[in-house]
Amino acid sequence: MEQFIMNTRIYMGAGSLEKIRDLEIERAYIICDPFMKQSGKADQIAALLSARGACWEIFSEVVPDPTIGVVTKGIEGMCAFRPDTVIALGGGSAIDTAKAVSHLYAAMDKERRPRLVAVPTTSGTGSEVTSFAVISDPEAKAKYPLRDAAMVPDVALLDPELTATVPPHITADTGMDVLTHAFEAYVSTAAGDFTDACAEKAIRMVWKYLECAVTDGGNMEARERMHNASCLAGVAFNGASLGICHSMAHALGARFHLAHGRSNAILLPHVIAWNAGLETAGEEAALGRYVEIAHMLGISAGTPKATVHGLIRQIRNLMKRIGIPEQITELGVEREEFLSAVEDMAEKAAADTCTDTNPRRPEKAEFEDIYRR
Ligand code: NAD
Repeated sequence: MEQFIMNTRIYMGAGSLEKIRDLEIERAYIICDPFMKQSGKADQIAALLSARGACWEIFSEVVPDPTIGVVTKGIEGMCAFRPDTVIALGGGSAIDTAKAVSHLYAAMDKERRPRLVAVPTTSGTGSEVTSFAVISDPEAKAKYPLRDAAMVPDVALLDPELTATVPPHITADTGMDVLTHAFEAYVSTAAGDFTDACAEKAIRMVWKYLECAVTDGGNMEARERMHNASCLAGVAFNGASLGICHSMAHALGARFHLAHGRSNAILLPHVIAWNAGLETAGEEAALGRYVEIAHMLGISAGTPKATVHGLIRQIRNLMKRIGIPEQITELGVEREEFLSAVEDMAEKAAADTCTDTNPRRPEKAEFEDIYRR
């Protein structure tokens, strides 16, 4: 028996932020990063809350790749303020912080579980609809994807106007995160008709709109479609989970402080080649699924493997057009330093929960080999 659960009420489209005025909120704890405070976006929410007579407090100490330390501080602030609602404003880092903070706060007293409203300002992680929260331990140089159905936000407000200020390189990185989520959900061992529908739609939308969102950030149609694609990919992987591109990106990003979407983008072509068995005879776990994606995007060549080679070429072309390099060394990571970290990263990737649903299970040595490529 299978099941598909979607617990988040989603409001989408320009102006959907205003919906905050209609929610039953008396005390709101707004969790965001310093940029959201300085840019006035947190104050925009505060004004909407004040207009409905609600109290609010802003916790603006979120850092990219949120740490255990930030989560602890957030819980302390929340214990003092005792909100009925937490509003997560920002990219995946703010939303994941809010999820972890709310979850741990509620664990101390189940009666006071606050409602969680997620307001994404990047089009990337889909965290506004998922049960994942990725928290980093800087000392261990590790990122841990925590998963609990109770962390799924109650409400998501997808207002594309909030994404208009995202600079091109972050639009590119986060957009490739969307593509990776949709690809990994589609080839996952837990994929089904419902998750496929969301993954397929997200792939088509990224293919059509990502380049435009990067090169013409003021194009609100591209921004809106990328915002919706990000959420759809989140729905897909919340049901189907992910794969080794994410496991490897978690270890890579934690080690070298690379943006999550960029780590995924650089690894994606290599992971597709490995999953589809392009270099190894008889190991073609996901070949047919990648061929389906290629056909969906109008890519076809003589044989299934040639078709997947074509798909990888097109992904690399897209990355080039939106300014994402192909090699880790182009991101300022020293070759020798990278190679000396491969064994440790491979160990962490093998233990990552995302590895469980990858269509092919790599040995530790195979993870190392993919990293070296
Ligand atoms: P982010 O939240 O770290 O933000 C990246 C940068 O973009 C920050 O400097 C931020 O201030 C800036 N920014 C955000 N919105 C902006 C806007 N509207 N205008 C201008 N600048 C803006 O990046 P992200 O890629 O959204 O999130 C990455 C984090 O999410 C990682 O920790 C990753 O592991 C995690 N993640 C979580 C899930 C999940 O399901 N929970 C899925 C994928 C990734």
